Amino acid sequence: MKQDVIVIGAGIIGLATAEHLLVQGAKVTILERNKTGQESSWAGGGILSPLFPWRYSDAVTSLTSYSALQFPEWVSVLRETSGIDPEYEISGMLILPPYNEETARRWCSMRGMKLEQRTACDIHSIHAAVTADRMNKAQNYALFLPDVAQVRNPRLLRALRSRVELLGGRIIENCAVSHLKITDRHIQSLATLCGEFPADNYIVCAGAWSTKILGIHALKLDIKPVKGQMLLFKFDTPPIPAIIVQNDLYLIPRRDGHLLIGSTLEDAGFDKQTTTAARDSLLEQAQAILPALEKMPIKQHWSGLRPASLENIPTIGRHPVIRNLLINSGHFRYGVTMAPASAEILVNEMTGAAQPFDTAPYQAGWDTN
Ligand SMILES: Cc1cc2nc3c(=O)[nH]c(=O)nc-3n(C[C@H](O)[C@H](O)[C@H](O)COP(=O)(O)OP(=O)(O)OC[C@H]3O[C@@H](n4cnc5c(N)ncnc54)[C@H](O)[C@@H]3O)c2cc1C
Repeated sequence: MKQDVIVIGAGIIGLATAEHLLVQGAKVTILERNKTGQESSWAGGGILSPLFPWRYSDAVTSLTSYSALQFPEWVSVLRETSGIDPEYEISGMLILPPYNEETARRWCSMRGMKLEQRTACDIHSIHAAVTADRMNKAQNYALFLPDVAQVRNPRLLRALRSRVELLGGRIIENCAVSHLKITDRHIQSLATLCGEFPADNYIVCAGAWSTKILGIHALKLDIKPVKGQMLLFKFDTPPIPAIIVQNDLYLIPRRDGHLLIGSTLEDAGFDKQTTTAARDSLLEQAQAILPALEKMPIKQHWSGLRPASLENIPTIGRHPVIRNLLINSGHFRYGVTMAPASAEILVNEMTGAAQPFDTAPYQAGWDTN
């Protein structure tokens, strides 16, 4: 692939896209407004699955399932080339009620996804720290997805950055793109404070800021920020062996005893302030599941802006009018999970290679009809 490509945004999506392009032989420059991997991709939890997988459309399921399968190989290449371990781990995900069990069972059986029951007894022995009264009151059990994995986002981002640079990619930080200079349905250059960047193709991977850059060329694309706040604790050893989910709340144990608790879903524009109300609410819900938290101080409290899109379906591919413009954005709650597959789909579109499944839904966001 002999092309000069500019990628706008150095989050997980921009970096994964750049990596894929570099492997295909393209010359790639990433322009990043601030520092690499410090926005939503850094803030996220790193669960490699939708929280209640059966609640999503086929477009989300195809992308997340295919993508999650890429992780073991991807992470191993990243670890070997960068020397940084993103700590990929199949820790499983325990889902506490409420949930629709029949829907969950039918969906998992159709998709070939393992689903197990955990009884009060199992949970007392396996998840000793979790209060049993959080389980299904009627049947006295919770659902367990044993194949769900996780990664540590900051490590994944550092490893990916290193790999992009080792492959010859150039990352220019503190270089905000304000808009695209377009004539005759073609980007001629970008308006930036750090110079001109002529290229064959331009790819917008700017997360929650993507439609700001596109301006009127966003057409009907609706990608907007949705704030998520997270809390971090540190235990001596992992207080739970698996990810635990209840409603929108999740607890993610890391190998070294860190425990992440998330997250809120707030429509607050580009405001990234953390709030005491969100902290107290997350804390209260988490303590009801894991009473040991009552004695623990909060180590860190942060927020990130998810690139929210309708039904969690990202837009991946070429702009319908401007032929040297592409986008890979709008991954909302599952951009870490979707990153490798989204990069592959975008690059397939550029090279004309066959797609692994129907990718038409990732063009629907432009809504040009
Ligand atoms: C609290 C929280 C928890 C989450 N948990 C999970 C999870 O467990 N699993 C999962 O799969 N996903 C999770 N997500 C979602 C996931 O993090 C996002 O979908 C993903 O990070 C989006 O990646 P991105 O690269 O598109 O965006 P970002 O990481 O936000 O990157 C966009 C980049 O573009 C840059 N940029 C913006 N404007 C410009 C400009 N004008 N010029 C140049 N650069 C620009 C930004 O500075 C930024 O670096 C979570 C998100 C949050 C906030």
